[in-house]
Amino acid sequence: MKQETKCIQSGYQPKNGESRMIPIIQSTTFKYDTSEDMGKLFDLQAEGYFYTRLQNPTNDMVAAKICDLEGGSAAMLTSSGQAATFLAVFNIATAGDHIIASSAIYGGSFNLFNVTMRKMGIDFTFVEPDCSDEELEAAFKPNTKCVFGETIANPSLVVFDIERFAKAAHAHGVPLIIDNTFATPINCRPFEWGADIVTHSTTKYMDGHDVAVGGCIVDSGHFDWMAHVDKFPGLTTPDESYHGITYAEQFGQGGAYITKATAQLMRDLGPIQSPQNAFYLNMGLESLAVRMPRHCQNAQTVAEFLENHPMVTWVNYPGLKSNKYYERAKKYMPNGSCGVISFGVKGGRKAAEEFMKHLKVAMIATHVADAHTCVLHPASSTHRQLSDEELIACGVTPDLIRLSCGIENVDDIIDDLNQALASIQ
Ligand code: PLP
Repeated sequence: MKQETKCIQSGYQPKNGESRMIPIIQSTTFKYDTSEDMGKLFDLQAEGYFYTRLQNPTNDMVAAKICDLEGGSAAMLTSSGQAATFLAVFNIATAGDHIIASSAIYGGSFNLFNVTMRKMGIDFTFVEPDCSDEELEAAFKPNTKCVFGETIANPSLVVFDIERFAKAAHAHGVPLIIDNTFATPINCRPFEWGADIVTHSTTKYMDGHDVAVGGCIVDSGHFDWMAHVDKFPGLTTPDESYHGITYAEQFGQGGAYITKATAQLMRDLGPIQSPQNAFYLNMGLESLAVRMPRHCQNAQTVAEFLENHPMVTWVNYPGLKSNKYYERAKKYMPNGSCGVISFGVKGGRKAAEEFMKHLKVAMIATHVADAHTCVLHPASSTHRQLSDEELIACGVTPDLIRLSCGIENVDDIIDDLNQALASIQ
């Protein structure tokens, strides 16, 4: 099936007389005739459900759809994108281990790694996504367990060289994990470029309507854990907390990673997505292949408009020929990248603040990547405690506006930006 068809039909195919729409199994628990039947589930000897903190049929149907869209072997939903990022890494790294991450990643992921996971004893090296081969090579240590990057970084819009980082990771016997939130599998399928695991904040384009926070982890099934027995003991040696199961032996290359994350990490940590939210996510996914091209077309038209506007000093969008990542974006995302743009307003912080006051269509919100056009001036909102000098040091210039183009008529978005730019004194 093509991606458009998978968006509608993957994950759940109703049988004769069954509900056409995916059912919401709003139940914490599942009933069994005998203790033995339930025991088999606990021993992971039979497939089925016993408690929604670990697995729920609605979630699994939606995860199966995303798995199909990414071309993976297994997938699971999580309560948020943050939970997906955490579980994806923590599933293969523990205290004393080391991770390499791109320095151009979502701020929440950076903080999770640099503060919270460091407190758990996991060490991180952040590398520039455009670092030299020597710099990348020097970042690997004997205890490195994975490499992490973002297809299109939020908010810097740096396009990650997936193929290059996958080769480097594999040369050191570790997997590459890619956060594919901004591109979605409609615009980029990281497994085709060598990535091994993909994560998503489904809160963004996949949901697409600002209704449900959620996340997803997809395994490609390509990484051979048993070829690196010593590096990944959590997958290749018995899990005493789960009846001595060796995940890679019992569930094979395609199933081990997600089964471990479900049976062990969901059991102990519990960041499960609610079945109700999974239902909303599924509705969003049904139109993803129709919405993504519209987001990209709108963003392209708006970026070109802004690039030619006298009140705009710079525009950052990978679809512009002037952009540093134009060629790389064409390679990985030939049909378009995403709907998010950043640009600078002439006159700095004060002019940008004035511009924001006059917007009528674009809504002020910290969110990005949904049907509504939304806009943020970090210097006067999320980053307002920082001085101009401090802002520049963290890569958020005082004039920077982040604009997430929705799927409204592009003329209305442009008219709105135009009148707001004209209002700057
Ligand atoms: N990854 C990326 C690229 C994001 O933009 C975000 C949120 O903005 C996250 C992960 C975290 O996702 P969530 O907010 O669903 O926890």
